[in-house]
Amino acid sequence: MFELTTEYIQKDIADSSQIFQRGVRLYQEGVYNCIEMDEVHSAFVYEIDANFGDYTTRVRLLTDGVQTACDCPYPGKGCKHTVGVLLDVMHRQNLKKSTQVQSLASVATVDDFLTPDEIRAQAISDRRQKARKEPFTALMGDMLKGEHIVETPRKRRYRVTLHDPHTGAGHCSCPDFLTNCLGTCKHLVYLAETIKKDRTMSARLSQERFPAGLRR
Ligand SMILES: [Zn+2]
Ligand SMILES: [Zn+2]
Repeated sequence: MFELTTEYIQKDIADSSQIFQRGVRLYQEGVYNCIEMDEVHSAFVYEIDANFGDYTTRVRLLTDGVQTACDCPYPGKGCKHTVGVLLDVMHRQNLKKSTQVQSLASVATVDDFLTPDEIRAQAISDRRQKARKEPFTALMGDMLKGEHIVETPRKRRYRVTLHDPHTGAGHCSCPDFLTNCLGTCKHLVYLAETIKKDRTMSARLSQERFPAGLRR
């Protein structure tokens, strides 16, 4: 099976060094989710949480290189999604043979760009930006502090439960929330902001407690 390296992804995959850097950022922020993995054929399918909707990126490791496909609008072959996904696949490969110092060093080069705190801060601000930019639709539930549906521009629906719109605390059924360990996602941020901006809803808020059925 073909062994991925940072150099290979940078020189043979990324269309430019700028795209490579963007792919590195995508990898660091973890705004993707591996939805299919075929270990026998070394084929992977990823869903990317991009600025205006979700993209699907497929990669397959051959004996002498990789086969890639991404459904984003970028016209070239080596888009940032493909770069980010290949870095993740490389990371998986390296974890498998983590005793090899050499491969760990190559992961370190990629991870060296930012500290863990910086990555986390950036990941959160990334979700905030997306919550502001993307044309989501909110289907409000009965209670503001409760369950709602957020629909994406691509008509995907996620169940968002808000505990408190002021702090943004809650949870979401999207793959990003389930895997990012940030305690938030763009749907949750979007919904909390929507409620805070709406006067009628804000006025209603003080009447509610969470969970709705609980009485003291
Ligand atoms: Zn792409
Ligand atoms: Zn979400």
